[in-house]
Amino acid sequence: MDAESQYSEPVSNLPMPVIRYDAQGQQRYVNSAALAMMRDTSGSACATNAEARIFSPQALQQYLDTVREVATTGVARELELTFDGLPHMHGEHYLVQFVSYPASEAAPGVLAIYFNITARKRAEAKLRERESFLESLLDTMPIPVFSKDREGRYLHLNRAFEEFLGVPKERFIGKTVFETSPHELAQTYFAKDEELFAKGGIQRYEFKVQNAKKQVRDVEFSKAVFHDDEGHQAGLIGAILDITERKQAESEQRAQYERILQLNERLEYKARELSGARTQLMTVLHTIPDLVWLKSTAGVFLICNQSFERFVGKSKAEILGGTDFDIFDAELADYFRERDKAAIDAMHVCVSDEWVVAPPTSERTLLETRRLPVFDAEGMVAGVLCVARDMTERRRFDERLARREREFRTLVENSPDTVARYGRDCRRLYVNPTFASLAIGGAQALLGRTPAEYPGGPGSVLYEQQLREVFATASDREFELIWGPDESRELCQLIRLTPELGPDGMVETVLAVGRDISELHASRGKIHRMAYFDALTALPNRVQFNEDLRLAISNGAHDGYTAVMMIDMDRFKGVNDTMGHAIGDELLREAARRLVTCVRPEDTVARFGGDEFAVLLPGVADRGIVEDISAMIIKRLDEPFLLDGREVFVSCSVGIALYPVDSTDAKDLLRYADSAMYLAKRSGRRGFRFYTKDLTIEATARLSLESELRRAIDLGEFALYYQPQVTLRGAEVIGSEALLRWNRPGEGFIRPDQFVPLAEETGLIVDLGRWVLLEACRSAVEWNTRSGARHRVSINLSARQFQSRDLALTVRDVLDETGCRPEWLEFEITESLLLEEDDSVLSALLTFENMGVSIAIDDFGTGYSALSYLTRFPIDTLKIDRTFVQRVTTDRRHAELVKAILSIARCLGQRVVAEGVETIEQAAFLDAHGCEVAQGFLYSVPLPKPAIASLPRFLDPGAARHVNP
Ligand code: C2E
Ligand code: CA
Ligand code: CA
Repeated sequence: MDAESQYSEPVSNLPMPVIRYDAQGQQRYVNSAALAMMRDTSGSACATNAEARIFSPQALQQYLDTVREVATTGVARELELTFDGLPHMHGEHYLVQFVSYPASEAAPGVLAIYFNITARKRAEAKLRERESFLESLLDTMPIPVFSKDREGRYLHLNRAFEEFLGVPKERFIGKTVFETSPHELAQTYFAKDEELFAKGGIQRYEFKVQNAKKQVRDVEFSKAVFHDDEGHQAGLIGAILDITERKQAESEQRAQYERILQLNERLEYKARELSGARTQLMTVLHTIPDLVWLKSTAGVFLICNQSFERFVGKSKAEILGGTDFDIFDAELADYFRERDKAAIDAMHVCVSDEWVVAPPTSERTLLETRRLPVFDAEGMVAGVLCVARDMTERRRFDERLARREREFRTLVENSPDTVARYGRDCRRLYVNPTFASLAIGGAQALLGRTPAEYPGGPGSVLYEQQLREVFATASDREFELIWGPDESRELCQLIRLTPELGPDGMVETVLAVGRDISELHASRGKIHRMAYFDALTALPNRVQFNEDLRLAISNGAHDGYTAVMMIDMDRFKGVNDTMGHAIGDELLREAARRLVTCVRPEDTVARFGGDEFAVLLPGVADRGIVEDISAMIIKRLDEPFLLDGREVFVSCSVGIALYPVDSTDAKDLLRYADSAMYLAKRSGRRGFRFYTKDLTIEATARLSLESELRRAIDLGEFALYYQPQVTLRGAEVIGSEALLRWNRPGEGFIRPDQFVPLAEETGLIVDLGRWVLLEACRSAVEWNTRSGARHRVSINLSARQFQSRDLALTVRDVLDETGCRPEWLEFEITESLLLEEDDSVLSALLTFENMGVSIAIDDFGTGYSALSYLTRFPIDTLKIDRTFVQRVTTDRRHAELVKAILSIARCLGQRVVAEGVETIEQAAFLDAHGCEVAQGFLYSVPLPKPAIASLPRFLDPGAARHVNP
């Protein structure tokens, strides 16, 4: 076999056309499929060189060139060819593969193998067509659309996209977002895209994008994945929807909606409020006891409260919507309609009292009903509001009241008490028969008159004052009143005033009830007088005085002072003792009468007992007035009392304490006045003294002193000292004065000035004086019996000692007891004693004279120095008071006085002793003017008894300066 046939065999059976060419391009073999193709295409049975028929000249040229090229190079080639030489064969496409065919070394051949690709070509064309259709379709769409491949490179963008972004699509196609957008944005897009690829389906999201005009727009991306033929993800396509307007519209709509919501909420709140108020109103209406209802003009019940429901015995549901005819009987319902109409016509509140039968109980009830027309918004009458109050009880109460009043009236009219009613002007509006029967003119005389107009008198002032206070304070008053309905009678009434209040709470009238307590008053007065008054003088007693004093203090509002005076009569005891008690009583009564004339009517003069009187002077402007009154009292009591046909002289001492200066306490004031009175007494009687603080201190001290004094006599604490008396010429001791000393334990020697006055006041001086007398007599006996020279002992006697009747007796006893001779003694008395126009003093002095005891006037010149007594009494010696002696050399007036005393004494034949001689000059003066005897520190201080015994007979003046113990 040849080589040709060697290859022809397999090729000839191939389904696709195969043609073999030689190196020059001459057909050498054609297989059956190629023959068929040629035949079918060229329309001729001959297939040889059919290429020239089926291809256009250019295509043929290309075809042949390729064959030669492959034959020459041996490299296979491919050509896509269309049978374009044949008009009817348009559209047949073939892919021709040219491969070298080794026919022989010298003449290599080429095989052309045909593959029909017409179907593929057509499909390709269709696709292209569709794509361009799609593209133009997209371009016509107003919505920006884009597509990307799986790697994110832009594939397509439509015109709308370009316009929206203002960028030509060339800037995007084939690029990723990372190349077209800022990184961050690109990242977001990328992430979104990847999310879509992962999830599939359609992705929608809103975003903000800047458009061509640099406006930020709200957009919505809608994206979906597309796939290739094998179903793999090939890319995505997306559309951008500008939703800015929609969003705006949406938000506006939302705002609108919210506003509506708010408004609605407010409306709801208002509605709630209104319903709350309504509920409240209804609650109030329900709680009030009055019946309340509202009816329309047609008479239909619109509102009613629970009181109304109860009253008519129906529930609200049954009442509302109905009319009076559904509740009450026709007659009553008609009546109510009429009343409602009347109120509507009147256009204002109408009040009427109406008896209504309450349906459930059938009880007649008095209703006080107020009807008030109510108006709607247009001012038209909309209905009638009614408020009704059940007045049944009230009416019954009024009736009961009236009955009660009738009963009371009967009581009052028949009461034994007087009853009167007074108006604000204090005029009587009513008097009961009892009262009327008291007045001379009967009720006529009383009614319309004030108490001052009838019956008048001091009681009426009090009465009106009390009335006015009841009107002012609206409180009850009770007081006693003494008045005389006529001249012949005096009534004591217990008056009770009771305020009667008007509706405004003010006192409108005052009711006065008077009970006759005249009898009670009389017996009470008697008891009072007995308890509070002194039976002898009819003056208030101590109890009454204390009460008055306390009253004055509690009324302390007085300007100025309240003075408390204690008055003690100086010589009452003597009168009482000598003239008898009856005369004593007469003296006290007369003294009381005189005291009362010295004070004002409002002052109190009281007798405390014995000869002790007290005076209370409330509201004194100044001390001067008190002094004047005191002086007047002293003067009045100084005047002689005519008793039993004899003139009797008594004097008094007054002590005064002042409220509130000295104390505000009643007891203290009395005590202080008492202390002051003692001071007055001590300082020479016939005087008054005001209390001073020192007095209290003194009084307290005095009290303890007094008790000690009493004991001192028994305990022998007293001692007698003696101060020598010497002749001025030669200083010869001729006597001595006995001076009392109290050796008080713990305090040493106490001078007599500090205890003698108290001993006098308390009467202790009597015992003490007796002891002194005894001691002095013993000394006198001792000294006079021992030596030949006479030594006269001077003994001080106090006035109080003369008051005890047995002074003379005591003296005689002591002389007897001691064996003392009278001429060895001299008694020193004070001038004041001689002024006591008391026979007992004179008689005592006369007794002493008779006995042979000489008498000296002590402290001569300091007292009254009424020279008349010097002749009347048996005086032997004058002792010139040391205050004069001590100034004779320095004070001319004193020198003259001393000279005068000396010349008087010379005339009357009396001895003179100068007291308190302290200097040689004084002694010289006294001697020069005829004084014979001296006593004083110049010669000797008072010495104890033994020291006197050892004294030389002649002293050396100034040498013995002992300390005065
Ligand atoms: P009197 O009777 O005037 O007595 C004289 C007083 O003068 C004494 O005071 C005496 O110590 C004091 N005296 C004497 N010489 C001097 C002097 O040169 N200078 C000064 N400054 N004083 C001098 P005394 O002893 O304190 O007695 C005071 C008073 O007490 C007496 O005054 C007399 O009134 C009274 N008294 C004394 N003893 C008694 C007594 O036994 N019975 C009574 N009833 N009274 C007495
Ligand atoms: Ca004396
Ligand atoms: Ca004297």
